[in-house]
Amino acid sequence: MSETTTRVVLVTGANRGIGRAIAEAFVAQGDTVATIYRSGDLPHGVHGYVGDVTSTTDIDAAFTRIEADLGPVTVLVANAGITRDQLLMRMSDEEFDQVVDVNLTGAFRCARRASKGMIKARNGRIIFISSVVGLYGGPGQVNYSASKAGLVGMARSITRELGSRSITANVVAPGFINTDMTQALPEATQKTYKSSIPAGRFAEPHEVAAAVQFLASEQAGYISGAVIPVDGGLGMGH
Ligand code: NDP
Repeated sequence: MSETTTRVVLVTGANRGIGRAIAEAFVAQGDTVATIYRSGDLPHGVHGYVGDVTSTTDIDAAFTRIEADLGPVTVLVANAGITRDQLLMRMSDEEFDQVVDVNLTGAFRCARRASKGMIKARNGRIIFISSVVGLYGGPGQVNYSASKAGLVGMARSITRELGSRSITANVVAPGFINTDMTQALPEATQKTYKSSIPAGRFAEPHEVAAAVQFLASEQAGYISGAVIPVDGGLGMGH
């Protein structure tokens, strides 16, 4: 078997939405795919490890089990994320902290643990799922936007720290994707957003998966610290 068919890919939150589509794409490609997830059912062929990205204990334990069961993780896709939208003036410390804890610190916990095996293997791909909102901003999303912008600094610092060991760290910044997260938006809001997207539509989760797969590929070995938008032109490349 070639290197690409034996590598272990870990996607957080593969039970639904974008994470599910990413996991399915890697399975279809022949990779061994694991997920750390909280609930729900998983796509066919994905190895599930229950855990919450807000718990260092859960993450470290899940990685240890994945390594024992499947081998070292060489591709990490930090996808799990939440929103707790609120206007700045009304946003509580809890709403701010919860979002940062899942979206930013959760990604950090996974990247830190994944880096151990990647450094040993002198090979690795770290991909953070950010958002167009991270660099574009969004009213009512001070917490979410700050957490997603933070992933850019994280990827670039990892790139500087681990780049010489054939480890890349990149950010994919989706625009509006048809998942539970966007279905929760009122119809009028969805219409307003659509009118400002040059592509004139929301995307499907598999369109994000395609960008992730490319960044995880052998061919993308010289791309690191980059932000790849998948947003129909909304952010104009930031
Ligand atoms: P969904 O709300 O459909 O799914 C979110 C996923 O994250 C679920 O699997 C959820 O698990 C998981 N998750 C949330 N909190 C935790 C936690 N503490 N521990 C483990 N898993 C957790 O969202 P999307 O699929 O739309 O979003 C996926 C990523 O893409 C997120 O990071 C999001 O911010 C980002 N994104 C989404 C966009 C969109 O338009 N949909 C646009 C830009 C970025 P559970 O099912 O158990 O809740």
